[in-house]
Amino acid sequence: MDHKEFRVKAKELVDYIADYLENVRDHRVYPGVQPGYLHARLPTEAPQAPESWDDIFRDVEDHIMPGIVHWQSPHMHAYFPALTSYPSIMGEMLSSALNVLCFTWASSPAGTELETIAMNWLGKLLGLPDCFLNEKNDSPGGGVIQTTASEATLVSLLAARTRALMELSSLNPEVQSSELLGHLICYCSDQAHSSVEKAGLIGLVRMRYIESDEHQCMRGAKLEEAILNDKDKGLVPFWVCATLGTTGSVAFDNLREIGEVCEKHSAWLHVDAAYAGSAFICPEYRHWLNGVDMADSFAFNPSKWLMVNFDCTAMWVKDSTALHRTFNVNPIYLRHENSGKAIDYMHWQIPLSRRFRALKLWFVLRNYGVVGLQKHIRESVRLAQKFEALVLADQRFDIPQPRNLGMVAFRLKGDNTLTERLLKRLNARGYIHAVPACFKGVYVIRFTVTSQRTTNQDILNDWSEIKTVASEILMDTFGSENGNIVMPKKPRISLKETRELNATFGTSLLLANSPMSPKIVNGTHVAICDYEQVLSSCAQTFAQLKMEPKDSPEMRRRIRGIRMCGKKFSLDSYMDMVQGLMVEQSLPQCSEEEREEASNGAKSEPIGAKH
Ligand code: PLP
Repeated sequence: MDHKEFRVKAKELVDYIADYLENVRDHRVYPGVQPGYLHARLPTEAPQAPESWDDIFRDVEDHIMPGIVHWQSPHMHAYFPALTSYPSIMGEMLSSALNVLCFTWASSPAGTELETIAMNWLGKLLGLPDCFLNEKNDSPGGGVIQTTASEATLVSLLAARTRALMELSSLNPEVQSSELLGHLICYCSDQAHSSVEKAGLIGLVRMRYIESDEHQCMRGAKLEEAILNDKDKGLVPFWVCATLGTTGSVAFDNLREIGEVCEKHSAWLHVDAAYAGSAFICPEYRHWLNGVDMADSFAFNPSKWLMVNFDCTAMWVKDSTALHRTFNVNPIYLRHENSGKAIDYMHWQIPLSRRFRALKLWFVLRNYGVVGLQKHIRESVRLAQKFEALVLADQRFDIPQPRNLGMVAFRLKGDNTLTERLLKRLNARGYIHAVPACFKGVYVIRFTVTSQRTTNQDILNDWSEIKTVASEILMDTFGSENGNIVMPKKPRISLKETRELNATFGTSLLLANSPMSPKIVNGTHVAICDYEQVLSSCAQTFAQLKMEPKDSPEMRRRIRGIRMCGKKFSLDSYMDMVQGLMVEQSLPQCSEEEREEASNGAKSEPIGAKH
């Protein structure tokens, strides 16, 4: 392919990509192929003669696309998000074209310096303490982009292992390192990701799993008890991994308690926030970071939720010395005259070569801005909350662990096999895709809001699919689509009662009882009662629902509007109002203009408009 052909074909490819992403919702999210499908279609050897681009690309459409899982689809709910975005794709395109290897400053100064700058921006955005930043050349801390969260965990464990072995060697100069290694032990919760176990296996150290509490959270007291026991046996605790946002249920270990135990026993504390880390760009979620000042390393994946395409794991360390001691090999061909004046990232990671990943991170941070990224995170949480409300309103389902952020873990009430069958059938139909988790013997389906393009309607469609399949399974098993659950009779509000409550009540208001809305509050009730009554109804049902407070000037204006104009609103509006009131119990009085503005804004939103 020459320059001329590249100009034409690459532009066509850009159109293909834009068409794909624009219409990704229309694909069946999970492919219907069987193992070996591609082997049967492609030749067993590479072609001897060059092939035309058109022939090659035709095979993409004919053979590759049928075997793709559409991770960017709004109907993809498996795992955690792995989002891409246009600025990120463009960063990847440019980085591929430049193809610089940023292992030392000299190997590509812009590559190294942009990484340091972007990681400082991102660290500040998350509210990490200054000790994790690298704003001066001689600062011991700083950020680095690793390939995956698994690799960041391993890097952290190996650095901590070096530090511990050096300390032990100085106390026991006559003992071999290999023997000292046998005394080391590290810790994580029984909910930690499997990559933590893998890091222990590669690092040849023992790993102790701390039993999490009823909220799947590792607590300081249990950790301390285990450490004291191990010390009594002559073992040396050297590394603890805390998880913020576990894979199974997005649970959060208690960082402050764990940090205090680590400080007391001089253990390195690593924080794995692979998915949840992105949420810390929103101040309302930073309470989970309480205690991060006691961590030695912290990692999360912008390649999950922050729309920087894979690979991109942001890792910060308080003191890079331990990394240097672990990974520093300094052959003559890698030395340069500015060594020591800037970071040489090859000393912060396992491989030598590294891609220019800072470019896509920098593009995304600039093109969305903090406000755009925060909006994206909050919208995912809002949609997960909506899904949670739908599940809670159906008596056949259960949410055994409270939802955190953008993931809801739900199940059919009753035996685990019902939920297993539900998931299997959902995945086989391919319209939505999800994976299971199991906490303490309870099997659940994880429903993660993944795409930045997910709409209210997508959530409603997915819920409808889940309900349909659940009804089929319950019908097959129990001969009733309600299974063996006795449905309580819903109290009916008669028209007479309704008229007594509101003389001007018209039958059109019955539309408020929209069939699409989750029946958290009886729609008729919403339509005829004033907001204080509705609020108390909401509060009763919302007692089960995990609501995050919402606070922003726009939200306050909206809530004032809802309260003051006396009109009837959709369920979503009432949910907003409850969330707003959680932030500010007594809302300030509006000025005349604000009153005007609020009621104008409110006019454009009819009852049930969002459903
Ligand atoms: N840690 C946690 C908590 C995770 O949820 C995951 C993956 O979802 C990982 C680590 C592994 O991430 P990676 O694929 O980047 O290694």
